[in-house]
Amino acid sequence: MIQFDNSYIRDLPGSYLRLAPDVAPAPKLIVLNEALSKALGLRIEDAAGWFSGARLPEGAEPVALAYAGHQFGGFSAQLGDGRAHLLGEFLGPDGRRWDLQLKGSGRTPFSRGGDGKAALGPVLREYLISEAMAALGIATTRSLAVVATGETILRDQGPVPGAVLARVAASHIRVGTFQFFAARGETDKLRALMDYTIARHYPQAHGPLEFFAAVVEAQARLVAEWMGVGFVHGVMNTDNMALSGETIDYGPCAFMEGYAPETVFSSIDRQGRYAYGNQPAIMGWNLARLAESLLPFIDPDPERAVDLANGALDRISTVYQGAFEAVMRRKLALQGEEAGDAALVRDFLSAIRGVDWTLAQRRLAAALGDEASYLGLFDAPEAISAWLPRWRARLRPDAQVWLRSVNPAVIARNHLVEAALDAAQAGDMVPFDALLAALRDPFGGEAGRERFALPAPKGFERYVTYCGT
Ligand code: AMP
Ligand code: MG
Repeated sequence: MIQFDNSYIRDLPGSYLRLAPDVAPAPKLIVLNEALSKALGLRIEDAAGWFSGARLPEGAEPVALAYAGHQFGGFSAQLGDGRAHLLGEFLGPDGRRWDLQLKGSGRTPFSRGGDGKAALGPVLREYLISEAMAALGIATTRSLAVVATGETILRDQGPVPGAVLARVAASHIRVGTFQFFAARGETDKLRALMDYTIARHYPQAHGPLEFFAAVVEAQARLVAEWMGVGFVHGVMNTDNMALSGETIDYGPCAFMEGYAPETVFSSIDRQGRYAYGNQPAIMGWNLARLAESLLPFIDPDPERAVDLANGALDRISTVYQGAFEAVMRRKLALQGEEAGDAALVRDFLSAIRGVDWTLAQRRLAAALGDEASYLGLFDAPEAISAWLPRWRARLRPDAQVWLRSVNPAVIARNHLVEAALDAAQAGDMVPFDALLAALRDPFGGEAGRERFALPAPKGFERYVTYCGT
Protein backbone atom coordinates (compact mmCIF):
# COMPACT_ATOMS: atom_id res chain seq x y z
CA MET A 1 0.00 0.00 0.00
CA ILE A 2 1.10 3.55 -0.71
CA GLN A 3 -0.55 6.38 1.19
CA PHE A 4 -0.86 8.93 -1.60
CA ASP A 5 -1.29 12.64 -0.95
CA ASN A 6 -1.40 14.36 -4.32
CA SER A 7 -0.70 18.02 -3.67
CA TYR A 8 0.40 18.94 -7.17
CA ILE A 9 -2.97 18.19 -8.73
CA ARG A 10 -4.76 19.68 -5.75
CA ASP A 11 -2.83 22.96 -5.73
CA LEU A 12 -1.85 23.57 -9.35
CA PRO A 13 -4.87 23.10 -11.61
CA GLY A 14 -4.11 23.80 -15.26
CA SER A 15 -0.56 22.53 -15.03
CA TYR A 16 -1.21 18.86 -15.88
CA LEU A 17 -3.52 16.53 -17.76
CA ARG A 18 -5.17 13.56 -16.16
CA LEU A 19 -4.73 10.36 -18.09
CA ALA A 20 -3.93 6.72 -17.49
CA PRO A 21 -0.66 5.02 -18.43
CA ASP A 22 -0.72 2.29 -21.07
CA VAL A 23 -1.48 -1.22 -19.92
CA ALA A 24 1.66 -3.25 -20.53
CA PRO A 25 0.75 -6.56 -22.20
CA ALA A 26 3.14 -8.77 -20.21
CA PRO A 27 4.80 -6.86 -17.37
CA LYS A 28 7.81 -8.54 -15.89
CA LEU A 29 9.79 -7.12 -12.98
CA ILE A 30 13.46 -6.73 -13.90
CA VAL A 31 14.83 -4.87 -10.87
CA LEU A 32 13.30 -3.63 -7.66
CA ASN A 33 15.15 -1.26 -5.35
CA GLU A 34 14.33 -2.97 -2.07
CA ALA A 35 16.63 -0.78 0.02
CA LEU A 36 15.00 2.37 -1.31
CA SER A 37 11.45 1.12 -0.93
CA LYS A 38 12.21 0.16 2.65
CA ALA A 39 13.82 3.53 3.41
CA LEU A 40 10.75 5.26 1.99
CA GLY A 41 8.38 3.10 4.00
CA LEU A 42 6.63 1.68 0.90
CA ARG A 43 4.77 -1.61 1.04
CA ILE A 44 4.93 -2.88 -2.49
CA GLU A 45 2.35 -5.57 -3.18
CA ASP A 46 2.43 -5.74 -6.97
CA ALA A 47 5.69 -4.34 -8.32
CA ALA A 48 5.18 -5.53 -11.91
CA GLY A 49 1.63 -4.21 -12.06
CA TRP A 50 2.13 -0.92 -10.23
CA PHE A 51 5.38 0.06 -11.88
CA SER A 52 4.42 -0.80 -15.44
CA GLY A 53 1.10 0.99 -15.18
CA ALA A 54 -0.79 -2.25 -15.87
CA ARG A 55 -2.48 -2.22 -12.43
CA LEU A 56 -2.24 1.03 -10.50
CA PRO A 57 -1.86 1.20 -6.74
CA GLU A 58 -4.91 2.48 -4.91
CA GLY A 59 -4.88 6.25 -4.55
CA ALA A 60 -2.75 6.88 -7.63
CA GLU A 61 -4.08 9.74 -9.77
CA PRO A 62 -1.96 9.59 -12.91
CA VAL A 63 -1.21 12.86 -14.68
CA ALA A 64 1.18 14.15 -17.32
CA LEU A 65 2.82 17.41 -16.28
CA ALA A 66 3.04 20.40 -18.60
CA TYR A 67 6.34 22.19 -19.07
CA ALA A 68 8.26 24.15 -21.66
CA GLY A 69 12.00 24.51 -22.10
CA HIS A 70 15.07 25.63 -23.95
CA GLN A 71 16.60 22.65 -25.73
CA PHE A 72 20.15 23.36 -26.88
CA GLY A 73 19.31 27.06 -26.58
CA GLY A 74 16.11 26.98 -28.66
CA PHE A 75 12.80 27.54 -26.91
CA SER A 76 9.87 25.12 -27.10
CA ALA A 77 6.74 26.57 -25.54
CA GLN A 78 5.29 23.12 -25.05
CA LEU A 79 7.22 20.02 -24.04
CA GLY A 80 5.69 18.25 -21.04
CA ASP A 81 5.62 14.61 -20.00
CA GLY A 82 5.51 12.93 -23.39
CA ARG A 83 6.07 9.46 -22.02
CA ALA A 84 5.76 9.80 -18.28
CA HIS A 85 2.96 9.68 -15.76
CA LEU A 86 3.13 11.08 -12.28
CA LEU A 87 1.22 8.54 -10.19
CA GLY A 88 1.13 10.76 -7.15
CA GLU A 89 3.01 11.81 -4.05
CA PHE A 90 3.60 10.19 -0.71
CA LEU A 91 5.33 11.16 2.51
CA GLY A 92 8.38 9.20 3.65
CA PRO A 93 8.89 8.14 7.28
CA ASP A 94 10.70 11.44 7.96
CA GLY A 95 7.76 13.43 6.60
CA ARG A 96 9.48 14.37 3.35
CA ARG A 97 7.28 14.45 0.26
CA TRP A 98 8.14 12.34 -2.78
CA ASP A 99 6.84 12.11 -6.34
CA LEU A 100 6.34 8.64 -7.78
CA GLN A 101 6.58 8.73 -11.56
CA LEU A 102 6.51 6.17 -14.35
CA LYS A 103 8.67 6.84 -17.41
CA GLY A 104 8.06 4.99 -20.66
CA SER A 105 4.41 4.45 -19.76
CA GLY A 106 2.73 5.57 -22.98
CA ARG A 107 1.79 8.49 -25.17
CA THR A 108 0.27 11.69 -23.81
CA PRO A 109 -0.94 14.88 -25.48
CA PHE A 110 2.65 16.14 -24.92
CA SER A 111 4.24 13.33 -26.95
CA ARG A 112 4.55 15.23 -30.24
CA GLY A 113 6.16 12.71 -32.63
CA GLY A 114 7.35 10.32 -29.91
CA ASP A 115 5.98 6.85 -29.20
CA GLY A 116 5.62 7.44 -25.46
CA LYS A 117 7.82 4.44 -24.72
CA ALA A 118 11.23 3.73 -23.27
CA ALA A 119 13.66 0.98 -24.19
CA LEU A 120 14.99 -1.44 -21.59
CA GLY A 121 18.67 -0.52 -22.14
CA PRO A 122 18.38 3.22 -21.41
CA VAL A 123 15.99 2.59 -18.53
CA LEU A 124 18.50 0.25 -16.89
CA ARG A 125 21.15 2.88 -17.61
CA GLU A 126 19.20 5.49 -15.65
CA TYR A 127 18.75 2.96 -12.85
CA LEU A 128 22.49 2.23 -12.63
CA ILE A 129 23.72 5.78 -12.90
CA SER A 130 21.15 7.33 -10.59
CA GLU A 131 22.02 4.69 -7.98
CA ALA A 132 25.71 5.45 -8.50
CA MET A 133 25.05 9.16 -7.97
CA ALA A 134 23.05 8.50 -4.82
CA ALA A 135 25.84 6.34 -3.41
CA LEU A 136 28.32 9.13 -4.19
CA GLY A 137 26.18 11.39 -2.03
CA ILE A 138 25.00 13.53 -4.95
CA ALA A 139 21.42 14.79 -4.99
CA THR A 140 19.43 12.81 -7.52
CA THR A 141 16.08 11.38 -8.44
CA ARG A 142 16.03 7.71 -7.43
CA SER A 143 15.13 4.58 -9.35
CA LEU A 144 12.62 2.35 -7.64
CA ALA A 145 12.00 -0.34 -10.23
CA VAL A 146 12.34 -1.40 -13.83
CA VAL A 147 9.58 -3.46 -15.43
CA ALA A 148 9.81 -4.88 -18.94
CA THR A 149 6.48 -4.31 -20.66
CA GLY A 150 6.54 -7.32 -22.97
CA GLU A 151 6.31 -4.98 -25.95
CA THR A 152 8.82 -4.53 -28.69
CA ILE A 153 9.50 -0.93 -29.65
CA LEU A 154 11.38 0.57 -32.55
CA ARG A 155 14.59 2.54 -32.09
CA ASP A 156 17.38 3.58 -34.48
CA GLN A 157 19.21 0.28 -33.93
CA GLY A 158 16.03 -1.74 -34.68
CA PRO A 159 13.37 -3.43 -32.54
CA VAL A 160 14.21 -3.49 -28.82
CA PRO A 161 12.37 -4.52 -25.64
CA GLY A 162 10.24 -1.83 -24.02
CA ALA A 163 10.37 -1.05 -20.31
CA VAL A 164 9.06 1.35 -17.71
CA LEU A 165 11.17 3.02 -15.04
CA ALA A 166 9.51 3.86 -11.74
CA ARG A 167 11.32 6.78 -10.22
CA VAL A 168 11.07 8.78 -7.07
CA ALA A 169 11.94 12.47 -6.91
CA ALA A 170 11.71 15.35 -4.45
CA SER A 171 9.52 16.78 -7.21
CA HIS A 172 9.39 17.04 -10.99
CA ILE A 173 9.21 20.83 -11.08
CA ARG A 174 11.68 22.09 -13.66
CA VAL A 175 12.94 25.48 -14.82
CA GLY A 176 10.82 24.65 -17.86
CA THR A 177 7.69 24.40 -15.70
CA PHE A 178 8.11 28.09 -14.82
CA GLN A 179 8.84 28.91 -18.46
CA PHE A 180 5.62 27.19 -19.52
CA PHE A 181 3.39 29.65 -17.64
CA ALA A 182 5.66 32.64 -18.25
CA ALA A 183 5.51 32.04 -22.02
CA ARG A 184 1.72 31.90 -21.89
CA GLY A 185 1.47 35.03 -19.76
CA GLU A 186 -0.47 33.05 -17.13
CA THR A 187 0.77 35.09 -14.21
CA ASP A 188 -1.68 33.72 -11.66
CA LYS A 189 -0.72 30.12 -12.36
CA LEU A 190 2.94 31.12 -12.39
CA ARG A 191 2.56 32.69 -8.96
CA ALA A 192 0.80 29.59 -7.66
CA LEU A 193 3.68 27.49 -9.00
CA MET A 194 6.25 29.74 -7.33
CA ASP A 195 4.39 29.64 -4.02
CA TYR A 196 4.03 25.87 -4.28
CA THR A 197 7.73 25.40 -5.05
CA ILE A 198 8.78 27.65 -2.18
CA ALA A 199 6.53 25.78 0.25
CA ARG A 200 7.73 22.38 -0.98
CA HIS A 201 11.46 23.00 -1.38
CA TYR A 202 12.55 26.32 0.12
CA PRO A 203 10.15 27.17 2.96
CA GLN A 204 12.75 29.46 4.51
CA ALA A 205 12.70 31.74 1.44
CA HIS A 206 10.58 34.88 1.51
CA GLY A 207 9.67 36.32 -1.86
CA PRO A 208 11.01 35.69 -5.36
CA LEU A 209 14.57 36.96 -4.86
CA GLU A 210 15.21 34.82 -1.79
CA PHE A 211 13.63 31.89 -3.59
CA PHE A 212 15.87 32.46 -6.59
CA ALA A 213 18.96 32.75 -4.39
CA ALA A 214 18.06 29.44 -2.72
CA VAL A 215 17.69 27.73 -6.11
CA VAL A 216 21.06 29.15 -7.17
CA GLU A 217 22.68 27.74 -4.02
CA ALA A 218 21.17 24.29 -4.62
CA GLN A 219 22.15 24.19 -8.30
CA ALA A 220 25.66 25.46 -7.59
CA ARG A 221 26.14 22.75 -5.00
CA LEU A 222 24.80 20.12 -7.38
CA VAL A 223 26.87 21.10 -10.41
CA ALA A 224 29.98 21.46 -8.23
CA GLU A 225 29.42 17.86 -7.08
CA TRP A 226 29.00 16.71 -10.69
CA MET A 227 32.28 18.39 -11.55
CA GLY A 228 33.93 16.70 -8.58
CA VAL A 229 33.13 13.22 -9.87
CA GLY A 230 33.57 13.98 -13.57
CA PHE A 231 29.87 13.63 -14.37
CA VAL A 232 28.73 14.96 -17.73
CA HIS A 233 24.94 15.33 -17.72
CA GLY A 234 24.84 15.69 -21.48
CA VAL A 235 21.48 17.38 -21.91
CA MET A 236 21.23 20.32 -19.53
CA ASN A 237 18.17 21.77 -21.22
CA THR A 238 16.03 23.98 -18.98
CA ASP A 239 13.40 21.22 -18.86
CA ASN A 240 16.03 18.90 -17.39
CA MET A 241 16.94 21.17 -14.48
CA ALA A 242 14.92 20.41 -11.36
CA LEU A 243 14.07 23.18 -8.91
CA SER A 244 14.68 20.75 -6.05
CA GLY A 245 18.40 20.67 -6.87
CA GLU A 246 18.35 16.99 -7.78
CA THR A 247 20.03 15.52 -10.83
CA ILE A 248 17.23 14.59 -13.21
CA ASP A 249 16.83 12.95 -16.62
CA TYR A 250 19.66 10.56 -17.22
CA GLY A 251 19.77 10.42 -20.99
CA PRO A 252 23.15 10.69 -22.66
CA CYS A 253 25.07 11.27 -19.43
CA ALA A 254 28.41 9.61 -18.72
CA PHE A 255 31.46 9.89 -16.49
CA MET A 256 34.63 11.42 -17.87
CA GLU A 257 37.76 9.29 -17.66
CA GLY A 258 40.78 11.30 -18.90
CA TYR A 259 40.38 14.83 -17.58
CA ALA A 260 39.56 17.20 -20.42
CA PRO A 261 37.13 20.10 -19.94
CA GLU A 262 35.90 19.73 -23.53
CA THR A 263 34.65 16.17 -22.90
CA VAL A 264 31.30 15.44 -24.60
CA PHE A 265 29.61 12.06 -24.95
CA SER A 266 26.24 12.84 -26.47
CA SER A 267 25.95 12.18 -30.20
CA ILE A 268 23.63 15.16 -30.62
CA ASP A 269 25.80 17.70 -28.78
CA ARG A 270 27.97 18.54 -31.76
CA GLN A 271 28.88 22.04 -30.55
CA GLY A 272 29.92 20.87 -27.09
CA ARG A 273 27.29 23.09 -25.48
CA TYR A 274 26.98 20.61 -22.61
CA ALA A 275 30.65 19.63 -22.39
CA TYR A 276 32.05 18.82 -18.93
CA GLY A 277 33.76 22.20 -18.52
CA ASN A 278 30.76 24.13 -19.82
CA GLN A 279 28.32 22.83 -17.22
CA PRO A 280 28.74 25.69 -14.72
CA ALA A 281 28.17 28.30 -17.44
CA ILE A 282 25.09 26.45 -18.72
CA MET A 283 23.78 26.22 -15.19
CA GLY A 284 24.03 30.02 -15.04
CA TRP A 285 22.32 30.37 -18.40
CA ASN A 286 19.46 28.14 -17.30
CA LEU A 287 19.10 30.01 -14.02
CA ALA A 288 18.86 33.26 -15.99
CA ARG A 289 15.85 31.75 -17.81
CA LEU A 290 14.29 31.01 -14.43
CA ALA A 291 14.95 34.58 -13.28
CA GLU A 292 13.23 35.91 -16.41
CA SER A 293 10.14 33.88 -15.53
CA LEU A 294 10.10 35.42 -12.05
CA LEU A 295 10.37 39.06 -13.21
CA PRO A 296 6.67 39.93 -12.69
CA PHE A 297 7.01 39.03 -9.01
CA ILE A 298 10.36 40.69 -8.38
CA ASP A 299 9.03 44.22 -8.77
CA PRO A 300 5.92 45.81 -10.27
CA ASP A 301 8.20 48.28 -12.09
CA PRO A 302 9.68 46.23 -14.98
CA GLU A 303 12.92 48.19 -15.11
CA ARG A 304 13.52 47.79 -11.42
CA ALA A 305 12.65 44.09 -11.68
CA VAL A 306 15.34 43.65 -14.34
CA ASP A 307 17.92 45.53 -12.24
CA LEU A 308 17.19 43.38 -9.21
CA ALA A 309 17.28 40.19 -11.28
CA ASN A 310 20.60 41.21 -12.80
CA GLY A 311 22.01 41.70 -9.33
CA ALA A 312 20.94 38.16 -8.47
CA LEU A 313 22.39 36.77 -11.71
CA ASP A 314 25.72 38.51 -11.06
CA ARG A 315 26.12 36.48 -7.89
CA ILE A 316 25.77 33.08 -9.58
CA SER A 317 29.38 32.65 -10.61
CA THR A 318 30.67 33.60 -7.14
CA VAL A 319 28.28 31.15 -5.51
CA TYR A 320 29.37 28.43 -7.94
CA GLN A 321 33.07 29.16 -7.45
CA GLY A 322 32.59 28.87 -3.69
CA ALA A 323 30.77 25.57 -4.08
CA PHE A 324 33.38 24.12 -6.43
CA GLU A 325 36.27 25.18 -4.21
CA ALA A 326 34.54 23.57 -1.25
CA VAL A 327 34.23 20.32 -3.22
CA MET A 328 37.88 20.39 -4.26
CA ARG A 329 39.13 21.35 -0.79
CA ARG A 330 37.29 18.28 0.46
CA LYS A 331 38.65 16.02 -2.32
CA LEU A 332 42.20 17.25 -1.78
CA ALA A 333 41.88 16.93 2.03
CA LEU A 334 42.96 20.51 2.63
CA GLN A 335 43.11 21.76 6.19
CA GLY A 336 40.74 24.69 6.73
CA GLU A 337 40.58 27.41 4.13
CA GLU A 338 43.45 29.57 2.88
CA ALA A 339 43.89 32.32 0.32
CA GLY A 340 46.09 30.18 -1.93
CA ASP A 341 43.59 27.32 -2.22
CA ALA A 342 42.08 28.47 -5.50
CA ALA A 343 45.53 28.48 -7.09
CA LEU A 344 46.37 25.10 -5.57
CA VAL A 345 43.19 23.62 -7.07
CA ARG A 346 43.76 25.30 -10.43
CA ASP A 347 47.33 23.99 -10.64
CA PHE A 348 46.20 20.48 -9.71
CA LEU A 349 43.65 20.57 -12.51
CA SER A 350 46.17 21.71 -15.06
CA ALA A 351 48.66 19.06 -13.89
CA ILE A 352 46.18 16.17 -14.28
CA ARG A 353 44.95 17.10 -17.74
CA GLY A 354 44.57 13.88 -19.76
CA VAL A 355 44.96 11.67 -16.68
CA ASP A 356 42.05 9.57 -15.44
CA TRP A 357 39.99 12.00 -13.32
CA THR A 358 38.93 9.43 -10.75
CA LEU A 359 42.30 7.73 -10.28
CA ALA A 360 44.19 11.03 -10.11
CA GLN A 361 42.23 11.75 -6.93
CA ARG A 362 41.64 8.31 -5.51
CA ARG A 363 45.35 7.52 -5.59
CA LEU A 364 46.37 10.70 -3.80
CA ALA A 365 46.01 8.74 -0.58
CA ALA A 366 48.60 6.24 -1.80
CA ALA A 367 50.80 9.08 -3.07
CA LEU A 368 51.30 10.17 0.52
CA GLY A 369 53.29 6.97 1.08
CA ASP A 370 54.54 6.04 -2.39
CA GLU A 371 54.89 9.04 -4.66
CA ALA A 372 56.57 7.08 -7.44
CA SER A 373 53.58 4.83 -8.03
CA TYR A 374 51.29 7.87 -8.17
CA LEU A 375 53.53 9.51 -10.74
CA GLY A 376 53.08 6.36 -12.85
CA LEU A 377 49.63 7.69 -13.78
CA PHE A 378 51.27 10.59 -15.62
CA ASP A 379 52.98 10.60 -19.02
CA ALA A 380 54.64 13.91 -18.14
CA PRO A 381 54.96 14.07 -14.32
CA GLU A 382 56.85 17.40 -14.02
CA ALA A 383 53.85 19.57 -13.18
CA ILE A 384 52.37 17.15 -10.66
CA SER A 385 55.80 16.55 -9.08
CA ALA A 386 56.10 20.27 -8.46
CA TRP A 387 52.56 20.41 -7.12
CA LEU A 388 52.73 17.54 -4.60
CA PRO A 389 54.99 19.29 -2.04
CA ARG A 390 52.74 22.39 -2.06
CA TRP A 391 49.78 20.12 -1.45
CA ARG A 392 51.46 18.19 1.36
CA ALA A 393 51.97 21.45 3.21
CA ARG A 394 48.20 22.05 3.29
CA LEU A 395 46.88 18.64 4.36
CA ARG A 396 44.56 17.86 7.21
CA PRO A 397 46.14 15.54 9.79
CA ASP A 398 43.83 12.64 8.89
CA ALA A 399 44.40 13.06 5.13
CA GLN A 400 45.33 9.44 4.47
CA VAL A 401 41.98 8.09 5.65
CA TRP A 402 40.00 11.14 4.60
CA LEU A 403 41.14 11.02 0.97
CA ARG A 404 39.85 7.49 0.54
CA SER A 405 36.54 8.38 2.11
CA VAL A 406 35.80 11.25 -0.27
CA ASN A 407 37.37 10.15 -3.57
CA PRO A 408 35.55 7.19 -5.11
CA ALA A 409 37.35 4.09 -6.32
CA VAL A 410 34.33 3.04 -8.36
CA ILE A 411 32.34 5.23 -10.73
CA ALA A 412 30.02 4.11 -13.53
CA ARG A 413 32.71 3.63 -16.15
CA ASN A 414 31.32 3.58 -19.65
CA HIS A 415 32.74 0.23 -20.77
CA LEU A 416 31.29 -1.47 -17.68
CA VAL A 417 27.91 0.16 -18.13
CA GLU A 418 27.79 -0.92 -21.77
CA ALA A 419 28.77 -4.51 -20.97
CA ALA A 420 26.18 -4.73 -18.19
CA LEU A 421 23.42 -3.35 -20.41
CA ASP A 422 24.33 -5.59 -23.36
CA ALA A 423 24.11 -8.65 -21.12
CA ALA A 424 20.87 -7.46 -19.51
CA GLN A 425 19.22 -6.97 -22.88
CA ALA A 426 20.23 -10.52 -23.74
CA GLY A 427 18.54 -11.71 -20.54
CA ASP A 428 21.62 -12.04 -18.32
CA MET A 429 21.40 -9.76 -15.27
CA VAL A 430 24.56 -11.05 -13.57
CA PRO A 431 26.93 -8.30 -14.84
CA PHE A 432 24.30 -5.63 -14.10
CA ASP A 433 23.88 -6.85 -10.53
CA ALA A 434 27.63 -7.03 -9.99
CA LEU A 435 28.18 -3.52 -11.31
CA LEU A 436 25.26 -2.17 -9.29
CA ALA A 437 26.73 -3.69 -6.12
CA ALA A 438 30.11 -2.10 -6.84
CA LEU A 439 28.53 1.29 -7.57
CA ARG A 440 26.66 1.18 -4.29
CA ASP A 441 29.98 1.11 -2.44
CA PRO A 442 32.01 3.71 -4.34
CA PHE A 443 34.43 4.59 -1.54
CA GLY A 444 35.20 1.01 -0.48
CA GLY A 445 38.55 -0.65 -1.11
CA GLU A 446 39.75 -1.80 -4.51
CA ALA A 447 40.88 -5.25 -3.35
CA GLY A 448 38.94 -7.98 -5.13
CA ARG A 449 37.18 -5.55 -7.43
CA GLU A 450 40.02 -3.97 -9.35
CA ARG A 451 38.18 -4.36 -12.65
CA PHE A 452 35.52 -1.89 -11.50
CA ALA A 453 38.16 0.68 -10.58
CA LEU A 454 40.20 0.74 -13.78
CA PRO A 455 39.71 2.92 -16.85
CA ALA A 456 38.34 1.55 -20.11
CA PRO A 457 40.69 -0.54 -22.21
CA LYS A 458 42.36 1.30 -25.08
CA GLY A 459 40.03 1.83 -27.98
CA PHE A 460 37.03 2.65 -25.82
CA GLU A 461 37.96 6.32 -25.40
CA ARG A 462 35.66 7.65 -28.11
CA TYR A 463 32.55 6.66 -26.21
CA VAL A 464 29.30 8.06 -27.61
CA THR A 465 25.90 8.17 -25.93
CA TYR A 466 22.57 8.48 -27.66
CA CYS A 467 19.50 10.45 -26.69
CA GLY A 468 17.04 8.07 -28.36
CA THR A 469 15.97 6.62 -25.07
P1 AMP B 1 14.34 14.61 -22.85
O1 AMP B 1 15.29 15.03 -23.92
O2 AMP B 1 14.36 13.16 -22.54
O3 AMP B 1 14.47 15.47 -21.64
O4 AMP B 1 12.86 14.86 -23.42
C1 AMP B 1 12.47 16.06 -24.02
C2 AMP B 1 10.99 16.00 -24.34
O5 AMP B 1 10.72 14.95 -25.26
C3 AMP B 1 10.09 15.77 -23.15
O6 AMP B 1 8.92 16.50 -23.36
C4 AMP B 1 9.84 14.28 -23.21
O7 AMP B 1 8.63 13.91 -22.58
C5 AMP B 1 9.76 14.06 -24.71
N1 AMP B 1 10.09 12.68 -25.11
C6 AMP B 1 11.30 12.08 -25.08
N2 AMP B 1 11.23 10.81 -25.54
C7 AMP B 1 9.93 10.60 -25.89
C8 AMP B 1 9.20 9.49 -26.44
N3 AMP B 1 9.79 8.33 -26.74
N4 AMP B 1 7.87 9.66 -26.66
C9 AMP B 1 7.26 10.82 -26.36
N5 AMP B 1 7.88 11.89 -25.86
C10 AMP B 1 9.20 11.79 -25.62
MG1 MG C 1 13.65 15.54 -19.88
